[in-house]
Amino acid sequence: MSRILLLGGVGDALNIARRLGPQDIYSLAGLGKQPADLPCQLRVGGFGGGEGLADFIHAQGIDLLLDITHPYAAQISANAARAAELSGIPCWALRRPGWQAGAGDDWRELADWAELSAAFAPFQRPLFTLGREPLEHLDSIPAGQYWTLRSLDAHPGNARATVIGARGPFNLEDERALFAAGQFDVLISKNSGSTATEPKLQVARELGLPVLLLARPLLPAVDREFSSVETLWSALQGRSV
Ligand code: NAP
Repeated sequence: MSRILLLGGVGDALNIARRLGPQDIYSLAGLGKQPADLPCQLRVGGFGGGEGLADFIHAQGIDLLLDITHPYAAQISANAARAAELSGIPCWALRRPGWQAGAGDDWRELADWAELSAAFAPFQRPLFTLGREPLEHLDSIPAGQYWTLRSLDAHPGNARATVIGARGPFNLEDERALFAAGQFDVLISKNSGSTATEPKLQVARELGLPVLLLARPLLPAVDREFSSVETLWSALQGRSV
């Protein structure tokens, strides 16, 4: 019988995990919520790099690896490609397209934190939706700035920064209220391409705010790449086992 190992941690992965069979395995790093009601098996925690993942694939008799991790989780995607190569099994990946600026949008893409911080230096009230990275810089907030950070991790913040621990999806109405209360003058974000976190871009557009996007990391080429859950799911169903 065919046995799938699904590397997840995002909503699209959970969507597929909910359709897998009892022999299949859904794998999470362990940072977020762990669903209790899956039809497949759940395992949590790292494998020990690409080699460790290849050992797991061998030991469990996996014959298809699915990489549906976050587009900025570059290490696990590299490990997946390496492990599939070592094990001689195919790796399929969901490579969700990034958000695209529309007419009138003031979006800039920056390579890393150094470039981002130079770009947001002229602003006073940035909103960061970059995950954990800005937490490392709370002690060096430039004079004249007040930061708001939203990430999965709760954190007390400090006199110059508020940290909101929250997990998407976020709806348009709530995002409008957040922007109104925070009086942000710039949005600084990853480009996840997820509909669950897209409303903030709509609000930035409505308010005419600039958006600074952290560039996506390069991900490895794998055997098959899909741009949506449904195309991946159709291919899984059409796959000969
Ligand atoms: P990362 O830097 O690419 O991976 C770090 C290490 O975490 C990997 O080397 C691996 O450890 C372990 N790992 C990651 N995903 C795993 C999985 N699905 N199952 C088992 N082990 C996993 O990843 P990250 O950016 O820290 O993200 C961690 C997880 O959170 C990912 O699964 C990702 O899908 C999810 N996530 C990330 C973001 C983001 O912005 N980066 C946002 C939302 C969700 P070993 O080398 O020991 O195997």
